[in-house]
Amino acid sequence: MILIDGKKAAAELREQLKQEVAELKTKYNKVPGLTVILIGDMAPSQIYVRNKEKSANEVGLKSEVIKYPDTVEENTVLEKIKELNNDETVSGILVQLPLPKHIDKQKVIETINPSKDVDGFHPMNVGNLSSGYESSVPCTPLGCYLMIKKIEPNLSGKKAVVVGRSNLNGKPMTQLLLKENCTVTITHSRTKDLKAECLEADIIVAAVGIPELVKGDWVKKDAIVIDVGINKTENGLVGDVAFDEVSKVAKALTPVPGGVGPMTIACLLKNTVECFKRSQI
Ligand code: NAD
Repeated sequence: MILIDGKKAAAELREQLKQEVAELKTKYNKVPGLTVILIGDMAPSQIYVRNKEKSANEVGLKSEVIKYPDTVEENTVLEKIKELNNDETVSGILVQLPLPKHIDKQKVIETINPSKDVDGFHPMNVGNLSSGYESSVPCTPLGCYLMIKKIEPNLSGKKAVVVGRSNLNGKPMTQLLLKENCTVTITHSRTKDLKAECLEADIIVAAVGIPELVKGDWVKKDAIVIDVGINKTENGLVGDVAFDEVSKVAKALTPVPGGVGPMTIACLLKNTVECFKRSQI
């Protein structure tokens, strides 16, 4: 079984990006810039943002974090986003979710210029992805996609089952696999027989949030299994896939932690570089 090492894949991607940023600096005399807006003091968000800033600096991006207290007015945030939309030194804007209840998430997402939407959540990017056009792609599914392609470069005709239909993970993952000519089944909480669906799959991507939902006897021999789930349990962090059982049948499997997670941040940096390159044309 191939244990897909997300840390190593992320380090390789960061190294590639570092070289690319250096080349862009020589060519344009400027570097891509990532601005993150962080509202409130929720510990997980603070950690995510700190990691994003550290990784951005590591590859040579210009990075900035703008912090607001969780009492900030919605309009202050929207005005700041508009200012960043017009700032040529800013290639990518990310507003760290979740937001305080009094701030309308959709309004925030739609205020970000789609060409600077490094999270790929703007309806324009969602539409472009589903139409098969160039777009920013949400970072977690993009990371999953890159890891799957490393294992199996030709996905044409493969049967893929995506478990979970969130806008963040399941839906964009489905679009990426469709673009690769997979036959994709998207499953969710109302799916009648999830085990039977999974057993058909050459590729399974599980993004649910239920510890060890996907069992060993749900997986076809030699399937590629990507585990997006991060669940805190008494036994520490576990994914949505029963790792020990599934590792006995799968051809390749991502661990939790150390699989999809590290690739997510590396893909945010990749999206920032792509936004910069598109803005130079
Ligand atoms: P979500 O709660 O938005 O969506 C969960 C999906 O799972 C829903 O579409 C729901 O229909 C489906 N679902 C629920 N119960 C089910 C069941 N019994 N059978 C089949 N489907 C079922 O979750 P999300 O934001 O997509 O996150 C999913 C998981 O991925 C979470 O554990 C989250 O922490 C993790 N996550 C990891 C990363 C990363 O970087 N590794 C990033 C984002 C989210």
